[in-house]
Amino acid sequence: MNEIKKFPYTYILGWSVSRYDRFSSCKRQYFYDYYAKYDKENPLEKIVFLKGLTSKALETGNIVHDVIRDTLQRFQKSSKPINKDKFFKYAFNTTEKYCGAKTFFEHYYNGDLISVQDIYLKVKNILEKFLNSPRFSWIEKNAVPQSSGWVIEPPGFGETRINNYKAFCKVDFLFPVGDKIYIMDWKTGKADDIKHSKQLTGYSLWANYHFEKKASDIVPMVAYLYPEYKERNIKINDASIFEFANTVESETKDMYEYLIDIEKNIPKDKKEFPVACNAFFCKYCNYKEICRASKF
Ligand code: SF4
Repeated sequence: MNEIKKFPYTYILGWSVSRYDRFSSCKRQYFYDYYAKYDKENPLEKIVFLKGLTSKALETGNIVHDVIRDTLQRFQKSSKPINKDKFFKYAFNTTEKYCGAKTFFEHYYNGDLISVQDIYLKVKNILEKFLNSPRFSWIEKNAVPQSSGWVIEPPGFGETRINNYKAFCKVDFLFPVGDKIYIMDWKTGKADDIKHSKQLTGYSLWANYHFEKKASDIVPMVAYLYPEYKERNIKINDASIFEFANTVESETKDMYEYLIDIEKNIPKDKKEFPVACNAFFCKYCNYKEICRASKF
């Protein structure tokens, strides 16, 4: 496969599914996430600390992703089957390490005690579903022989260009089998058809841009690992790619509206980023301590 293309650094903002998702949910939260250094009311360290809060669900997904990533990288060095004892020991050590290094939202705001053991039990349960899935055996049999062509969470943020706009589409796992390229994205949370289709179409465009593959040769799929292993194939064709590229362009322009300098990515004043009128968002928002709009 071709090399992943690199781009010279620019300050201009880059579209991503998660960035636009945040922008759509609450503009104020979006401001804290992406423009903290422009806030005149709160110390930068405070905002950075709140941004770094994790949650039990988020961290579970994070650990599962990283253990799967490391397992796939191990297959690139050796095609020997996984030793399950070592695999789960590694998963436990990773859980202990990650949980020890982070502050949990549930602890910070509610005083809950965080049990590494409880988090590990869920991590283990999810990883067992991954190892026992037909897809895992299929990968071992069909994809491992071509593991030198695998792309596993590539370094950086998966930068690409869509309709000449900067965009970030970072794939979990991309691998060739025969003349097709498969793209898999692991999910430990709930299915979200619209968001996940958008994400996978973005990854397909990333593959199309970097590896010059036709849409018909790309097989994108979402792998839901919990509560049961389930896959969802995302259909892409020239029409869906065209529609997606237009969406990226219009969503990028929406976000540009909140800037005073697009090239330098300098935001308007914080007061131009309205607070969400949504109790659910506020209840689970990392910034509720410093946001006057929050009553939770
Ligand atoms: S507390 Fe609510 S209004 Fe304030 S930033 Fe968070 S989600 Fe937005």
